[in-house]
Amino acid sequence: MSDPLAYAIDLHTHSLRSDGALSPVELVRRAAGRGVLIQALSDHDTLAGVAEAIAEGERLGVRVIPATELNTESEWGDVHILGYFLDPADQALEERLRWLRENRGRRIELMVERLATLGFPVTLERVHAIAQGGALGRPHLAQALLEAGYVPSYDEAFRTLISKESPAYVARVGLTPHEAVRLVRDHGGVPALAHPFTADRLEIVLPQLVDAGLAGIECYYGSHGVADTVRYLALAARYDLVPTGGSDFHGRGEHGAPLGGLWMPPATVDALGSRRRSAHALEASPYHDLPVERPN
Ligand code: AMP
Ligand code: FE
Ligand code: FE
Ligand code: ZN
Repeated sequence: MSDPLAYAIDLHTHSLRSDGALSPVELVRRAAGRGVLIQALSDHDTLAGVAEAIAEGERLGVRVIPATELNTESEWGDVHILGYFLDPADQALEERLRWLRENRGRRIELMVERLATLGFPVTLERVHAIAQGGALGRPHLAQALLEAGYVPSYDEAFRTLISKESPAYVARVGLTPHEAVRLVRDHGGVPALAHPFTADRLEIVLPQLVDAGLAGIECYYGSHGVADTVRYLALAARYDLVPTGGSDFHGRGEHGAPLGGLWMPPATVDALGSRRRSAHALEASPYHDLPVERPN
């Protein structure tokens, strides 16, 4: 039996249902093989892979937590909100997620047009084929550019052509960070800030998101040094946030922690669970001045 005090937990992973390279089933198998006991499937703007991941997890002894990652648009840099414990059968939520996925598709179309103008034509058909029906994203475009031979590596596609500072970049139409936190809360989920170092002026944006209902912050992350982790743990303590963590595994050769490569206290998941519904609003934190959410 495994040590109940220490084992691999991965609360941030991506599959083919968005911009990851493995199917949800393959992803859970890979995680199980690496000793992961609790895994969140957190595909961008979709819960489509959750059911099959849970089923495979049940077979292999991995507890799979339904989640999604919402990338947002604002003046605050890359603010990505992870929403945990969401219900794939929630139709109203699915409608909002579908709108976000449609916006993803339109944005990638515009980027394909820009790339053609710049002398790097790829077909939209090829990008869709790479995505295999998953929520479209720049990683699919990067793959297409790599295949077409315009760049020597996947990373270079981002660096030279499709990063925020690059000529083919098109901003998305989407949620603000505040709206993303509220969307997760309004649908009974638990919102956490992913890779906090990508947000600008965190000291200003974080208290605002806490006011909106943010409940967690990703303290354990592949590119964090110990000092980063300690800094985010301190922020978690200051704002009464659950310290979470995950690999952000995509399986596309990007940098970061390997799948299941991060360990965190198992109590993390219980603590996240305890922030569902009214539990959050009932806490006496001075940062939680929201109207009380009624238990449903
Ligand atoms: P999108 O959702 O279309 O804006 O694309 C963002 C996704 O691209 C992130 O979730 C990562 O998976 C990936 N990504 C962003 N920047 C890079 C980078 N510099 N190198 C590799 N992958 C990246
Ligand atoms: Fe991604
Ligand atoms: Fe992210
Ligand atoms: Zn991610």
